[in-house]
Amino acid sequence: MVKPQLNIQLSDAQRIPQIGLGVWQASNEEARAAVRVALEEGYRHVDTASIYGNEKGVGEGIRDAGTPRAEVFLTTKIWNDAHGFEAASVALDASLERLNVDYVDLLLIHWPAPSQDNYVDTWRALINAQRNGKTRSIGVSNFNPDHLQKLIDETGVAPVLNQIELHPYMQQEALRKVHESMGIATQSWSPLGQGSALSNSVILEIARKYDRTAAQVIIRWHMELGLIAIPKSITPSRIRENFKVFDFVLDASDLAAMNALNCGNRMGPDPSTFA
Ligand code: NAD
Repeated sequence: MVKPQLNIQLSDAQRIPQIGLGVWQASNEEARAAVRVALEEGYRHVDTASIYGNEKGVGEGIRDAGTPRAEVFLTTKIWNDAHGFEAASVALDASLERLNVDYVDLLLIHWPAPSQDNYVDTWRALINAQRNGKTRSIGVSNFNPDHLQKLIDETGVAPVLNQIELHPYMQQEALRKVHESMGIATQSWSPLGQGSALSNSVILEIARKYDRTAAQVIIRWHMELGLIAIPKSITPSRIRENFKVFDFVLDASDLAAMNALNCGNRMGPDPSTFA
């Protein structure tokens, strides 16, 4: 029995569960165990990438849990060393083989790597992969507005989603508005600020008020902003904790207090220069 959870409808009509499990910096064995725990808890969305080196473990975790493939929303990403039509197509086949699946639900270009000036051809490979049934949906990660516009101008196909750094200290309001105007969903990576936002005194105060943990309050904040969040943990108790977020609502004053924490502090690289 799948526990209650919310889905977001993407512009291609596919539905993505609003909360997923992130597995960056987990080994194959860790990812395998974490994915199994998450699916048993009711998660139906897992976010990996070829560069994480754990696609094999993610695939094994899905099979260990016994969850039907069709019930799991699985994302992987094309790394910066595989830009271009041919290289990206080959990289996707290798990912599918490691994951041991026939298709992924969402395939992303991990970074635009603008110095390579090749992300439009990479995007054409994703469009082709979707046509060939190797991915249900196609999107991007870490794209700035000019990168998004270039994809649309040159191919006529907009990504369904942009996965970007987004947490209480880096709220990305301008980019979220651009996404909205383009019909692109926003997905938050490092939704907990890699753990840094968990000790924030404003968030801890709100957590006390609702008798929740700081992680749950932050995940709920993402949900109420209409974002898709992929908190990472390999600790079973935390994986479970991070999914107990469907039975409470933050009131407007608490949302406002959290919105006021934005300071634009990036934890990851700058997409305009990272290659
Ligand atoms: P996160 O914000 O999810 O924080 C994860 C860390 O917070 C964990 O390592 C753990 O130490 C701690 N944590 C998690 N749950 C907790 C809990 N309940 N209580 C206490 N501590 C807890 O950070 P992240 O891993 O950087 O981001 C999440 C996912 O986003 C990644 O695993 C990956 O899938 C994705 N991601 C994508 C990109 C990209 O470029 N597209 C970049 C970074 C991360």
